[in-house]
Amino acid sequence: MASGMMMTTTRALAPVAARSASRGVRAAVRAGPSRGFAPSLGARRSVYCKAVEAPVNPTELKPPANLHGFELVREDYVAEYDSKVFFFRHAKTGAEVMSLSNDDENKCFGVTLRTPPANSTGIPHILEHSVLCGSRKYPIKEPFVELIKGSLNTFLNAMTYPDRTCYPVASCNLQDFRNLVDVYLDAVFHPRCVDNEKTFQQEGWHYELDSPDQEMTFKGVVYNEMKGVYSSPDSVLAREAQQALFPDNTYGVDSGGDPTVIPQLTFAEFRDFHGKFYHPSNSRMWFYGDDDVEERLKILDSFLSEFDRKEIDSTIATQKYFTEPKRVVASYVAGEGEEADKSFVQVNWLLNDGPFDTETALAVGFLDNLLLGSPAAPLRMALEESGLGEAIVGYGLEDELRQPTFAIGLKGVAKEDIPKVESLITETIAKIAEEGFTQAAIDSSVNSIEFAMRENNTGRFPRGLSLMLRSLSAWLYEGDPVEILRFEEPLAKLKARMAKEDVFTPLIKKMLIDNTHKVTIELNPDKELGKVQDDEEKAKVAAYRAGLSPEEIEKVVADTEELKRLQETPDSPEALACIPALDITDIPKEAKSIPTDVSTVGATTMLTHDIFTNDILYAEHLMDLHAVPMDLMPLVPLWCRAMQRMGTSKRSFVDFDQLMGATTGGFSLSPFTSSIRGSDDVSAYLVLRGKSTSAQAGQLHDLMAEMMLQAKLDDKEIFKQLVLESRASMESRVQSGGHSVAAGRLDAMDSVAGYVGEQLGGLAQLEYLKTLAKRIDTDWDGVVADLEKIRAAVVSRAGSVTNLTADAKTLDATAGAVQSFLDALPAEGTGAATEAWSKDLVLPPVNELITVPTQVNYVGKGANLYKSGYELHGSAYVINKLLGTTWLWDRVRVSGGAYGGFSDFDSHSGMFSYLSYRDPNLLKTIANYDGTVEFLKDISLDKDELTKAIVGTMGDLDSYQLPDAKGYTALMRHLLKVKDEERQQRREEVLATTEKDFKKFGEVLEATRAPEARVCAVVSPDAAKAAMKERPDLDFKVTSVM
Ligand SMILES: [Zn+2]
Repeated sequence: MASGMMMTTTRALAPVAARSASRGVRAAVRAGPSRGFAPSLGARRSVYCKAVEAPVNPTELKPPANLHGFELVREDYVAEYDSKVFFFRHAKTGAEVMSLSNDDENKCFGVTLRTPPANSTGIPHILEHSVLCGSRKYPIKEPFVELIKGSLNTFLNAMTYPDRTCYPVASCNLQDFRNLVDVYLDAVFHPRCVDNEKTFQQEGWHYELDSPDQEMTFKGVVYNEMKGVYSSPDSVLAREAQQALFPDNTYGVDSGGDPTVIPQLTFAEFRDFHGKFYHPSNSRMWFYGDDDVEERLKILDSFLSEFDRKEIDSTIATQKYFTEPKRVVASYVAGEGEEADKSFVQVNWLLNDGPFDTETALAVGFLDNLLLGSPAAPLRMALEESGLGEAIVGYGLEDELRQPTFAIGLKGVAKEDIPKVESLITETIAKIAEEGFTQAAIDSSVNSIEFAMRENNTGRFPRGLSLMLRSLSAWLYEGDPVEILRFEEPLAKLKARMAKEDVFTPLIKKMLIDNTHKVTIELNPDKELGKVQDDEEKAKVAAYRAGLSPEEIEKVVADTEELKRLQETPDSPEALACIPALDITDIPKEAKSIPTDVSTVGATTMLTHDIFTNDILYAEHLMDLHAVPMDLMPLVPLWCRAMQRMGTSKRSFVDFDQLMGATTGGFSLSPFTSSIRGSDDVSAYLVLRGKSTSAQAGQLHDLMAEMMLQAKLDDKEIFKQLVLESRASMESRVQSGGHSVAAGRLDAMDSVAGYVGEQLGGLAQLEYLKTLAKRIDTDWDGVVADLEKIRAAVVSRAGSVTNLTADAKTLDATAGAVQSFLDALPAEGTGAATEAWSKDLVLPPVNELITVPTQVNYVGKGANLYKSGYELHGSAYVINKLLGTTWLWDRVRVSGGAYGGFSDFDSHSGMFSYLSYRDPNLLKTIANYDGTVEFLKDISLDKDELTKAIVGTMGDLDSYQLPDAKGYTALMRHLLKVKDEERQQRREEVLATTEKDFKKFGEVLEATRAPEARVCAVVSPDAAKAAMKERPDLDFKVTSVM
């Protein structure tokens, strides 16, 4: 899926992921196969999950006898997804419904409204947050949060696009699914926020003043979320590009909200916007899965029938073509260091005056893949190897909005080199148009795209929602919502054309060479800008305050107090009972196990998982990371990248990459570490992950062996580029995902696994990269020698683990290929470290403030519960989940104004951390963390609330997974020594959790506010200064990063 457009969501996605997986596991999961292209197209059949009840046979499905106020407009069958499609229109309101029936148990629903904004006050975004804050049937503060607490959902969020707002849900449990649909429909059509200005103030913006002698400020969840977004130069670039390409239609403003404009928004405008666009006549609904079609219509009609048809103009105007190219020069907030002194440059094109037809869309998708889809693609390679910048920016093709666009550029460019980057882009494109693509490049793209389409691996994102988003990209713009889902026929046609003629040169000429609708964005660092923006914000508030009488100031104080009081008063149990909930008896008592067969093949532990994968083999080969000497550990991530980027002694990098693309599903190499509970051992491996069809497994393993044994490691220019790229991506992670950096630092002060993890992917890694960048010039031979030392030490069969996921037939057919791969590895590493990792590695515990240029903070605090005597009990999962949806949500997000606040309990290491995300506060947040102890000790939970928390936790534990994820999860359980019996015991503990467990856990959490507990936060230099002044007793150590 293209990701160029600015899109915002109700709930921070990163923290959600953090809740359900331990950090070590996450690090390895993140590293997918190295081929970047994931076309938003899917596979032949959604055969992976089976219906619980009588399976649907989609081809024979008839339309329901009773249509409940709808008319059947069209009946179709999409073979690619084995789905029966009915397209309905609601007679009374004109609401449109796409209904897909198939045997996927992961049922999906979404309601989407076209919501084109006229300005950058962020109305669509604030509304997206606010409609989920109570509705007619569900008159409580946040039904959304109640659903997160107590539902088995596999997806629950809301998204604001530049021109639409989407409310999607998914669940494998039918009753749960229907509950979610009901709550969402009521929220969209009957929200309380249109009559309740307090919600608008909370989610949008308001003046906050605790007492007349304090400073008045702007507050609001969206306000602060967008301040965080505007602190990231990458987001600034994307926004400038979109607005410059579309100056004349709705894409020329920011639907998310510009923090300098948000405070102009009035409640009346906000209410009117809902009145205008949130109407059935402007809605498009989507149902997908194995649930009953008639019931879908019945539910919808119960909401729609009270409305009448209304004419609503929400069409997105077409942007007219420019007659000549444009240029925009803008700036971003830069840090103090000289390393921050770097520009961005990106060239953008508008490709068409409307959505592409299916065949052109596919051809342009191929072109995008050929130009940028892999590190060997010529446009990407020319830029990456130019030495002109640190990393690629621009998303290539973006085709989800009304008119498709294309963008490419570089970041980390010296200002004087900007013209060179521009000419390089122009010249490379011209050269490609002249020379065409090689057959090897085309074969590679064809196989990669076909593989991705048939695999249809949407990861944790439900397949039905991925299809919905694709359908909407035609449906919203008067296109055909069904045809866009097909790919077999257009693909066959395109391949036939490609065999006969040059398909791509005319496209390149038309879209990228002769196209005058081209905008170049230059984004330069400005060290003063942060202060200027801060001062402007303060001046605005001061000017407002200066115009107030003492009585009016008292009123602001009273309003602030009133808002806080409302926010901190929980809904009564009677009110909460309106939210439909499952019962504990709806949850299976038995933990599901993943089929796993463990055997030993020589020195290798072999795990196999007999799971149907539609002819695909998923293979992981793990080598013991303990073999790498500790002083070389921080070089391992770079070594992994170098192994995949310089070719082998047999083939050049381009030949190797194209052969991999043409004959496999891709593979990747990355490190993984985690603590193991109840042991001083650390699980630490190098993970080689690959996939292919059963027939390609031999080629997959030959190429993996070739890379491991013969990859070149001595290309200085390439290596330098990799270091700069890694540094740039770590720097943007510190700035836009500071909570994970803070968490990593706390772990490094706690355990050896945490220390190693930080060396590999935390702040220590960033520091190492800075030194390494200099060392390349002074000691290149030494660097190469170190890289070779790592390979010699780690590439071996000793202590290795192989993990294979496929059905028995595929496993059988590919066993020989796997065996030859293992045979090719040396039995022992050379120069491998043998001593155990010392506990002295752990960083000395301090309270630390990491400063970067930012307008928001990421605040962490943590302690190890096992060290203070706590023994793992299943109730900890329930309590941790409840904290993130009650105490921390209410205090850190709702009244604190942060975008997110949650806790993370790593059950392997025992580390319990509180983390906040895009937070205006620092010390106040820490005080809220400390308050968790009292919150738990004093808690009084009625039965419903407790049941909800248990059910929600079970939803996380039983989360829906595609086959490759199942095999990988089983591997993690094996490595971290989590046995099925233990999982069953935890499950029973979760199900039996009582109020007493919460109170007891309050005692346990005393550890997190004891003197040994540590604070680590990513903050602005000003926030650091203020905190040190206010709390000298915390003895903060300040580390300046950028
Ligand atoms: Zn948001």
